[in-house]
Amino acid sequence: MLVAGIDSGSTATKVVLLADGRVCAAYTAATGADPQRAAARCLEAALARAGAPAADVSAVVATGYGRERVSQADRTLTEITCHARGAHALVPEARTVIDIGGQDSKVIRLDDAGLLLDFVMNDKCAAGTGRFLEVMANRLEIDLTSFGGEWLRAKEAAKVSSTCTVFAESEVIGLVAAGTPRPVIIRGLCEAVAARIAGMARRAGVVPAVVFTGGVSLNAGVRKSLEQLIGQKIVVPPLSQFMGAYGAALFARDLAQERAEAAGVSH
Ligand code: ADP
Repeated sequence: MLVAGIDSGSTATKVVLLADGRVCAAYTAATGADPQRAAARCLEAALARAGAPAADVSAVVATGYGRERVSQADRTLTEITCHARGAHALVPEARTVIDIGGQDSKVIRLDDAGLLLDFVMNDKCAAGTGRFLEVMANRLEIDLTSFGGEWLRAKEAAKVSSTCTVFAESEVIGLVAAGTPRPVIIRGLCEAVAARIAGMARRAGVVPAVVFTGGVSLNAGVRKSLEQLIGQKIVVPPLSQFMGAYGAALFARDLAQERAEAAGVSH
């Protein structure tokens, strides 16, 4: 049984395909200006990777910012629901999920069964999101994938105190002009993001195991700063960037099974 989860994110669209409950393909590309087209292209590319025709897909669940624009979806669910499901499936001991995406960030608390207890969300301000980091990486002319290595090279962190992305960018311009080494600035930026998230985490309550999902989970500098601030080890599971799509795919599998049972076919 082949099913698909599609996460139509503000920055990136992610698709996960499950064949008989196992991940058989994952694909991501920029969402751009047309979420519907991005979802169709990512689904097509994931199917090409899996070597399967679209007709074989028995259910599709969409999540993410642009989920209502995913015409292939049989059902849509919130990112909180899908990240929680995916994280619990991959890390059953997960009790806190920190999801930092391109445009928002969330701290999600789960009970022992993986059910949602509470969440704290920031979707009002770019500070504490991937967008903040993208703006700063662009300003520093460095790839976001290098942030972890640069963080390690810094013995201290520059102070980036503005909570507004635009003012923080001015601070970075000032730091560059003052000759502050780039690793020190990067560590300061990672700490600024981590401080925002740690504040949210304290409000939600930080109970181990803490799992990090969303695209920013690939930023080892932010992860290290967060670990220092919350005083907990943070788990970055496989598919961390795809967690919303993976959770959606698990719900799609449930849906396909329900349909098969209703039709009298067992899998
Ligand atoms: P959304 O679901 O809102 O589109 P994502 O969860 O895909 O967002 O996260 C996008 C963010 O992830 C980007 O803004 C960027 O900061 C970060 N990101 C993506 N890929 C990487 C990477 N390879 N290394 C570090 N950061 C990354």
